[in-house]
Amino acid sequence: MIETACRFDKPVRIGVNWGSLDQELLARIMDENAARTNPWTSQAVMYEALVTSAIENAMRAEEVGLAGDRIILSCKVSGVQDLIAVYRELARRCDYPLHLGLTEAGMGSKGIVASTAALSVLLQEGIGDTIRISLTPEPGGDRTREVIVGQEILQTMGLRKFTPMVIACPGCGRTTSTVFQELADGIQTYLRDQMPVWKKQYPGVEAMNVAVMGCIVNGPGESKHANIGISLPGTGESPAAPVFVDGEKTVTLRGDNIAAEFHAIVLDYVKTHYGKESNAA
Ligand code: SF4
Repeated sequence: MIETACRFDKPVRIGVNWGSLDQELLARIMDENAARTNPWTSQAVMYEALVTSAIENAMRAEEVGLAGDRIILSCKVSGVQDLIAVYRELARRCDYPLHLGLTEAGMGSKGIVASTAALSVLLQEGIGDTIRISLTPEPGGDRTREVIVGQEILQTMGLRKFTPMVIACPGCGRTTSTVFQELADGIQTYLRDQMPVWKKQYPGVEAMNVAVMGCIVNGPGESKHANIGISLPGTGESPAAPVFVDGEKTVTLRGDNIAAEFHAIVLDYVKTHYGKESNAA
């Protein structure tokens, strides 16, 4: 397998999965452990077997001619604390780039939360060079969710930028309508859908922040912190939605067409602040 990999110019990922560990190596490490005065726990033995297997396989690949700088190591485990422990040890013991991913993370929010928890700790410590999110898709679900979750982890941690982010209040007793939720969801979907074109046409737009807020309590304040923000009317407020652009109130929207008008304001901001049209202005 390694000889085949040597013909590739691209990086080669060498992966170990704790569900299919090299049994010979595991037996060797268990024998070494049994000879210790104070033997390690079975969990520590498993970690050691994973880390040793990954590093030894990488070294073997180098011996048969694969350049060390083309190797990426990965150790697949499905427990958050296991992943953190294994990768901390890998990072301590080798200089190969590391591919992070919680394997078999699960479905829905559980898979997203577990992946985020594990990767965030490691990324914050500077461990990890590539990432992968492994979610079990809902029946008929979309596999692109894994990519979106991975991007959102990196973007919310401030490590990379992929698409403009929408800040939206959680909602509370001060708003009884679902207008702000629908507007927030609609604008985030709109922004994500535009990115294949915008990233070429409007470089830098991925750093833009948009706020969609539900009432006057925090609406104007949060909106002023964003590039563009809208403060929708809460329960009992007059039906007006002030819009803030770079901290300044520019217009107040009213009526049934607020969503379309807000989209137009966002598009105008993108055109005038990013890319060629902004440079020509
Ligand atoms: S901004 Fe208003 S609606 Fe939104 S969470 Fe705060 S108080 Fe509630």
